[in-house]
Amino acid sequence: MKKRVAVLALQGDFAEHEDSLRKCGAETFQIRQKADLEQQFDALVIPGGESTVIGKLLRELDLFAPLQEKIRNGLPVLATCAGLILLADKIENDSKEHFRTLNVTVKRNAYGRQLGSFCTTGKFADMENVPMSFIRAPSIESAGTGVTVLSEFNGKATAVMQGKQVALAYHPELLEDCRIYQWFLDCIVSGK
Ligand code: GLN
Repeated sequence: MKKRVAVLALQGDFAEHEDSLRKCGAETFQIRQKADLEQQFDALVIPGGESTVIGKLLRELDLFAPLQEKIRNGLPVLATCAGLILLADKIENDSKEHFRTLNVTVKRNAYGRQLGSFCTTGKFADMENVPMSFIRAPSIESAGTGVTVLSEFNGKATAVMQGKQVALAYHPELLEDCRIYQWFLDCIVSGK
């Protein structure tokens, strides 16, 4: 059965996420307003962008509380960059807090000016040479109980999972390599 993935489409690279998910055989649709939540879906993607802007829009559009409840109840989530910040329990350099469903502390814009944007490759879960594109990315400063590290860069976690939440500091949607999406759909959404 095709999995149906909701992609939060308030800001950021939601169209590219949809392309990658479709390449991996999933159906997608966009969440832009509360009525969109009436549709059935098996997973949620929270794209990158500006976490303050997405957080503000989520609240203004009354999407915040229903999505937080779904995530708390075990909805599979793939969150990238600003998405990671939105899930984090604590943001070290921001007074704001958002969903707080993921037991990590993050730091916004942590990869300094010169390294503001860069691409690297690394291991993700059991896959080698996975390309990772960082754009003013947050760092994961610490991870609490229940959190598994999926990838690292310079000794710091760059992707983690906790239950069915998967959060990446980088952007997999900008690259041709779709293995992270396939892994998410197979291992997390379908639980294979
Ligand atoms: N710098 C952004 C923030 O703090 C995240 C960047 C991104 O999503 N590419 O929200």
